[in-house]
Amino acid sequence: QLSGSSPHRFYHCDPERGKRLVLSRMFQPQNLREDQVLSLEDTSGDLTCKSQRLMLQVGLIHPASPGCYHLLPYTVRAMEKLERVIDQEMRAIGGQKVNMPSLSPGELWRATNRWDLMGKELLRLRDRHGKEYCLGPTHEEAVTALVASQKTVSYKQLPLLLYQVTRKFRDEPRPRFGLLRGREFYMKDMYSFDSSPEAARHTYGLVCEAYGSLFRRLGLRCIRVQADVGSIGGTASHEFQLPADIGEDRFAVCSGCGFSANTETLRWLQTDCPSCRGPLTEARGIEVGHTFYLGTKYSSIFNAQFTDAQGKPCLAEMGCYGLGVTRILAAAIEVLSTEDCLRWPGLLAPYQVCLIPPKKGSKEEVAAELMDHLYDLITEALPQLRGEVLLDDRTHRTIGNRLKDANKFGYPFVIIAGKRALEDPAHFEVWSQNTGEVVFLTREGVTEFL
Ligand code: ATP
Ligand code: MG
Ligand code: MG
Ligand code: MG
Repeated sequence: QLSGSSPHRFYHCDPERGKRLVLSRMFQPQNLREDQVLSLEDTSGDLTCKSQRLMLQVGLIHPASPGCYHLLPYTVRAMEKLERVIDQEMRAIGGQKVNMPSLSPGELWRATNRWDLMGKELLRLRDRHGKEYCLGPTHEEAVTALVASQKTVSYKQLPLLLYQVTRKFRDEPRPRFGLLRGREFYMKDMYSFDSSPEAARHTYGLVCEAYGSLFRRLGLRCIRVQADVGSIGGTASHEFQLPADIGEDRFAVCSGCGFSANTETLRWLQTDCPSCRGPLTEARGIEVGHTFYLGTKYSSIFNAQFTDAQGKPCLAEMGCYGLGVTRILAAAIEVLSTEDCLRWPGLLAPYQVCLIPPKKGSKEEVAAELMDHLYDLITEALPQLRGEVLLDDRTHRTIGNRLKDANKFGYPFVIIAGKRALEDPAHFEVWSQNTGEVVFLTREGVTEFL
């Protein structure tokens, strides 16, 4: 039912229930049985992790080929929300969003020698004319060539911050843990162009602060650590690590002076802090972001210049800044969830509220109508919750059974119309999943509470 001018026109509708968003219509190829999940592990040869198992079980992702997943509707909603928060943070520091092709000409990669350096991780192909390409694993070459093609960039336009949120391709030797290490994944990559090393370092600091703000808003405790520059190169680099047992990175932190570094960079030391000689403690982490100060490494190869105040051409000082978008989503689920129940950062939950009306044929069935009214009241009184409220209309199932599902899925708020809903004044049972708190409220009380 798509009605032209209704504010609900984008809703996924059930004709019998008018414009309400109902769970029975969701495409959620879910409930892979435990043995099916285990057989997936067998084919990939790896043990799965909590986030991958939960995401498969409730129908958030579906395996397509090793390291590649279909992102299903709930995941796409969460990803859209995450991209919105990232956009806010990147635009707040002057970022301009672009979208560069995934198909990247081999000659750009030969120019930087990364055609060879990247080895088997680079997914290569040829077009019908025999011309070489790769599927972009990152875009330093592409963006620097783009900026270099503009001979009229003035120092007044700097810093220039270009970013995108796109699919990246890497033929990982061991794709695993679902979205945490895929062969095709989403990354936010930003590239900065500045007029001097000082200005570039200032920009570098701004991006790191924006990352800090992003992770704070998501409620994720990330630690910024010194890191290796790897094949991207440059002179300084930091990773944003989310502490987690299944993390593939190790980092060390000094409680004395706050120094922290990926242990890769400490290979050559003893266990002491290189800054204050205090003791270091080690932890495992998931690398969710990585920043690099590049200097003129790429701008000198492609001749990316700007004109200074005297009209003289000068090479741009560059930085690049990655965020693993799909990885952040899975990593958040990994650290927030219990073994059996998904939990989301509040900002990313695909739907904020799940309403559970009584079972069909039960004494309480009359309360079903109260639930419909509640649905309408919430979405009318609280515009920010439009499109965020889901009605679990599978009324052939008991309330308890659906509550169990809702708990597993981790909607931030679950509202039940049970026996007490029939009393006067009506009572709804409201669960706040992240705190485990349960309160009984009237209809108006619910909207106030939300
Ligand atoms: P890793 O050490 O985990 O292989 P990386 O250092 O190779 O990651 P970068 O080149 O720094 O990755 O890319 C920027 C960000 O992209 C990373 O911090 C990470 O969050 C994300 N990322 C990298 N590889 C993958 C992948 N295979 N799947 C999902 N996200 C990834
Ligand atoms: Mg890698
Ligand atoms: Mg790394
Ligand atoms: Mg990295």
